[in-house]
Amino acid sequence: DLGSAAAPLPSVSKSNIECRWSDITSYATKKKVHSWCQLPNGNWELGRIMSTSGIESVISLPDGKVLKVNSDSLIPANPDILDGVDDLMQLSYLNEPSVIFNLQYRYNQDMIYTKAGPVLVAINPFKEVSLYGNDCIEAYKNKSIESPHVYAIADTAIREMTRDEVNQSIIISGESGAGKTETAKIAMQYLAALGGGSGIEYEILKTNPILEAFGNAKTLRNDNSSRFGKLIEIHFTETGKISGAKIQTFLLEKSRVVQCANGERSYHIFYQLCAGAPRALREKLNLKDVDDYKYLKQSNCYSITGVDDAEQFRIVKEALDVVHVSKEDQESVFAMLAAVLWLGNVSFTMIDNENHVEAVADESLINVAKLIGCDTAGLNLALSTRKMRVGNDNIVQKLTLSQAIDTRDALAKSIYACLFEWLVEQINKSLAVGKRRTGRSISILDIYGFESFDRNSFEQFCINYANERLQQHFNRHLFKLEQEEYIQDGIDWTKVDFDDNQDCLNLFEKKPLGLLSLLNEESTFPNGTDFTFANKLKQHLKSNPCFRGEREKAFTVSHFAGEVTYDTTGFLEKNRDLLHLDSIQLLSSCSCYLPQTFASNMLNQSEKPVVGPLHKAGGAVSQKLSVATKFKGQLFQLMQRLESTTPHFIRCIKPNNFKSPGAYEQGLVLQQLRCCGVLEVVRISRSGFPTRMSHQKFSRRYGFLLPENVALQDPLSVSVAILHQFNILPEMYQVGYTKLFFRTGQIGVLEDTRNHT
Ligand code: ATP
Ligand code: MG
Repeated sequence: DLGSAAAPLPSVSKSNIECRWSDITSYATKKKVHSWCQLPNGNWELGRIMSTSGIESVISLPDGKVLKVNSDSLIPANPDILDGVDDLMQLSYLNEPSVIFNLQYRYNQDMIYTKAGPVLVAINPFKEVSLYGNDCIEAYKNKSIESPHVYAIADTAIREMTRDEVNQSIIISGESGAGKTETAKIAMQYLAALGGGSGIEYEILKTNPILEAFGNAKTLRNDNSSRFGKLIEIHFTETGKISGAKIQTFLLEKSRVVQCANGERSYHIFYQLCAGAPRALREKLNLKDVDDYKYLKQSNCYSITGVDDAEQFRIVKEALDVVHVSKEDQESVFAMLAAVLWLGNVSFTMIDNENHVEAVADESLINVAKLIGCDTAGLNLALSTRKMRVGNDNIVQKLTLSQAIDTRDALAKSIYACLFEWLVEQINKSLAVGKRRTGRSISILDIYGFESFDRNSFEQFCINYANERLQQHFNRHLFKLEQEEYIQDGIDWTKVDFDDNQDCLNLFEKKPLGLLSLLNEESTFPNGTDFTFANKLKQHLKSNPCFRGEREKAFTVSHFAGEVTYDTTGFLEKNRDLLHLDSIQLLSSCSCYLPQTFASNMLNQSEKPVVGPLHKAGGAVSQKLSVATKFKGQLFQLMQRLESTTPHFIRCIKPNNFKSPGAYEQGLVLQQLRCCGVLEVVRISRSGFPTRMSHQKFSRRYGFLLPENVALQDPLSVSVAILHQFNILPEMYQVGYTKLFFRTGQIGVLEDTRNHT
């Protein structure tokens, strides 16, 4: 329950952030005031109230049309002086149409950044805007520009790091294509410019093209979509110079290596290699063109408009040089990529009438063997048989076609995922903060936002779980800030207990009856299937208010950002993420250095490397941590790290689905504002005193409305006199030491009076 003894506050309700005219009826009856009115197409239009008769009102729209509408559907608009304010907190009416309009007003003038209280909202311009570069950086550094910007956030982070001696974090979220990765790079540029000098900043910037080549791909939503989450921790010396950095990555989408949807691409690096490899390398790796590889061919998409893959390859190689990956290692990396591509071309042939197969000993098989450094017979065996132990006997089981294909694809995915991890490790070695004592750090988190598609699978399940955790971090921090400001200014305020998303997090994390535990349990059962998993969920979680069982194998979770229905198909397999021991043994027997390293890394990550127990599908498997368990561990570690930092939040918004500059779809923007919690901030503010004005500003702006002798007093006395003169009710404001705090709508009333005087 919110509230102080003097002024009971409305509780923070998710149901409605909109302040309707009915909340402030006396004002609404005034003629000619601005009001939002929703058109049949769902868009909001600004009109003027011509007359109102309780239930019905007559509105005139800017195009001259006059509409008769239900008075309840009208939503107060802000006075003109608030058009395009650079902080949504300044809006007198904090309703959805006012927020959307304000952002659009700014966006139309290329002002893509707006503050929502402590949060920076960034709307993707889908074109070059002249907001960046050295002159701009200089201006933010000197404080000669104050308008909201990523630079301003980065600047605050540096200053607070130095001033408070506390590590900082910049947490960037938003849906695919909203601009997170670009925003992260812009923040890095600022940090590099201010903390540069040692040269290490150059290395840090060069990690971007590398990680993008290996971890980004063209999807239907974004031509350069990050398929992994990333945290980069940038370290500074006590004198504020960059001393090193450390990168952590999360949950690379490895299924993309073997499978991707029509019109999408696999990871950029494959196309870059095929297009850009010099002749000698091509020959050495037996490289063909992109359309000779089945893994690349299946999605019918080879190029990206405006992108030169060959040129990108050159940039990536140069970047690899900068982060000290030796030429020899680079060649090994390219060999692994070629091996993955050739693996996709390995085909199988039936050898008996029980559906058993072996690999065709063609060019593909020979190339893979050569590239990883094993003999073709050994490779063939690893792809088409499985060693098993029955009782005391070792037997060899032949695989069916679909088992062999799964084994082949699993090997390709593992090699790629290991390669990605290995590269990150090399980068980290190069950026390592030496033995020198360092001061503090600024971390930048670029992580996939909340996802809700027509069909949601294991990936969305993990991503949304992560977002649920981040949202909690966000809420708790904002509430703390809000209350600190009230307390600091000495206003009457009782501490608020925020009703956060703990229930949903419990649904995921509770042991033994939470989504993750039940998933892990079912994944260890040899007979567990997606179907038995879904049934278990329904059986154990049916009374949980955040959970709902659906037909067949589906279930729905009530997330903070809305309900998402997950289809459990593939959940167990993706969570187990098995690689048969035969494949690991194959890699460890290779003569090349990278496959050996991968094999030993995999064995080290295993909980208990076993050759013993049988898996249902047959054969020994490496009993490693499940994907969900590993992800949860990473997430907890991440949260712990963030917990000890001062966070700065950036919410990226995609204004349209066509990557088109200028187009601003209100509905789409609104949906994202709701999803990424921006309206939540607005809601929180509305529950308190969202409008603040210093005594000085308030008395200067409205003081002229008072008799002259009063208007000459000190700002505080003048302010109080104004409040009395206008009959502002005592529960509608609080007088702080330096500022006046108002509830929603109060400034609007004053402005209106001022303009009509
Ligand atoms: P994903 O979750 O798929 O990785 P994302 O949020 O990281 O998406 P970005 O890759 O950063 O999205 O942005 C998508 C595209 O939008 C960029 O490739 C670029 O064309 C454009 N874009 C984003 N931010 C800006 C900006 N500030 N200025 C100009 N263009 C931008
Ligand atoms: Mg990205």
